[in-house]
Amino acid sequence: MDSSQLLGLEKRYGAHNYKPLPVVLDRCEGVWVHDIDGRKFLDMLSAYSALSHGHCHPRLVAAAKRQLDRITLTSRAFHNDQLGPFCKQLAELCGQDMVLPMNTGAEAVETALKAARRWGYRVKKVAPNEARIVVFDGNFHGRTISIVSFSADEGYRDGFGPFTPGFDMVPYGDFEALEKAITPNTIAVLVEPIQGEAGVVIPPEGFLRRTRELCDRHHMLMLADEVQTGLGRTGRMFACDHEGVKPDAYILGKALGGGILPVSAVVGKAELLEVFEPGSHGSTFGGNPLAAAVGIEAMTVLKEEKLTERAEAQGKVFRAGLAPLVGNGLVLEIRGKGLLNAAVIDTSVKTARRCCEDLMARGLLCKETHETVIRFAPPLIIDDATLAWSMEQIRQTLQP
Ligand SMILES: *Cc1c(COP(=O)(O)O)cnc(C)c1O
Repeated sequence: MDSSQLLGLEKRYGAHNYKPLPVVLDRCEGVWVHDIDGRKFLDMLSAYSALSHGHCHPRLVAAAKRQLDRITLTSRAFHNDQLGPFCKQLAELCGQDMVLPMNTGAEAVETALKAARRWGYRVKKVAPNEARIVVFDGNFHGRTISIVSFSADEGYRDGFGPFTPGFDMVPYGDFEALEKAITPNTIAVLVEPIQGEAGVVIPPEGFLRRTRELCDRHHMLMLADEVQTGLGRTGRMFACDHEGVKPDAYILGKALGGGILPVSAVVGKAELLEVFEPGSHGSTFGGNPLAAAVGIEAMTVLKEEKLTERAEAQGKVFRAGLAPLVGNGLVLEIRGKGLLNAAVIDTSVKTARRCCEDLMARGLLCKETHETVIRFAPPLIIDDATLAWSMEQIRQTLQP
């Protein structure tokens, strides 16, 4: 089938909840993807950071294949020989006590919210059904009903009510507003240390540190959603590390599955995750041995290939190389940390979507977010020469 026939099939039989660029991919290696018409592109989105290790990393594929021939799924009704080692390695990587494995990012966020509420009633002793959680304007935590209940984006909410109560929203990065929103019933603050979907929005210096102190002062949990920013993406193992902050729980996903399968987890202190007793929470696939085996290898490769350190160094080169574009009549700002970067576009000149189409014509696959921002998040395995080539393409394309 040719690409227009395949696009037609998706359009006819698939729900239209995405608007992909018109390219049909069928092969990949590392940072490169190929389409069925024989074109080759550099992946500058990395499936929203899920492909930090690149496509089909040989060690991750080998780990998956080894596990595929042994045992793939047990359910949590029985033990498997991969889950324990996975939890140990992930807990140590995070400097936390315990791991609760799930599959997708949204499930891990839901898990953290459930844990926090129980902690609020059992440990903080908030009156039944009165617990409140503070969230931020511009947040993205996934697509379940409870999560979109506290989204600021009308497109994510329209038609999906009634919504889950118990959330208070304050402007992102506004510490005074956060402080004002705290009540005796506030049990947790759910924060992205950098807002990825909102357009790679970085909070003011000190915001995370002050949030941590506020949580300590009011006996509240700091829940860091690092589904997108975690595991080296921003040049630190976690984006919270930029301010030397340790949350009470990390919410992880995306890159934890090595670009092979969905693996997510809440990794937190014992006092929080011990609120779950058998039967109170679960997932058929969460913690399955295939996911655990791939997750173990994903963490090991991240460390052995020094992907975090590379992201830090290459991010500096990337932003410095693109900074001269700012003020050229199209690019308003270049920002980011590590290899999570963005260009803000003057949409009265050209839309970000149009820029992405032009970048695609030059061999770069990028994705706009919120119409005004182009996100650049290549796999962390990208080499210096390829990054330099991508910067040249971006410099040529992002012109008024
Ligand atoms: C992608 C993302 C999620 C949701 O992950 P899914 O696997 O798509 O459910 C949650 N939080 C953040 C910050 C994300 O970027």
